[in-house]
Amino acid sequence: MYNGEELTIYFCQNCYDNNEPKGNGDPKNMQYIRGYIGGWGHGLSKCPYCQQDIVDLNFTHDDFIAIRTASNYNRQFLDAMIKLHDEDIIAYETKMAELRVKAKELESIKQEERKTKCPKCGCTEFTPLRKKWRLLTGFATNKVELVCNNCGYKMQPK
Ligand SMILES: [Zn+2]
Ligand SMILES: [Zn+2]
Repeated sequence: MYNGEELTIYFCQNCYDNNEPKGNGDPKNMQYIRGYIGGWGHGLSKCPYCQQDIVDLNFTHDDFIAIRTASNYNRQFLDAMIKLHDEDIIAYETKMAELRVKAKELESIKQEERKTKCPKCGCTEFTPLRKKWRLLTGFATNKVELVCNNCGYKMQPK
């Protein structure tokens, strides 16, 4: 759980090379984070799963989560962002600024979905229909419609 401290991400080569995801939780997430160890705080020196030496990536947990949300569990994208963080911090921060906004937007849509009910049929499952994302400004055009998964009714999120 995030407690206000900037948590770091560690890298375990052994877990990364091993195709068996470690830890408990959503299998999709376990596959996504395989080899990356987050949420353990600072000062970890051995992998909690395989006891091998690990490397502190100096990568914040918040960014790790934002990349996951914005890329929808895209493993290649995560690898590329971590590489970019190492090689070109300016390019990384530029890209990250965009991803943080996108992740926030997706998070709020998810929250909206949870509390929204379709006025026609009462269904609570929606698919967000999003208008164009503006790369230049980093801001969405903020027009998102929710489409009821049950009856197809379209509504604006409140
Ligand atoms: Zn490991
Ligand atoms: Zn409906």
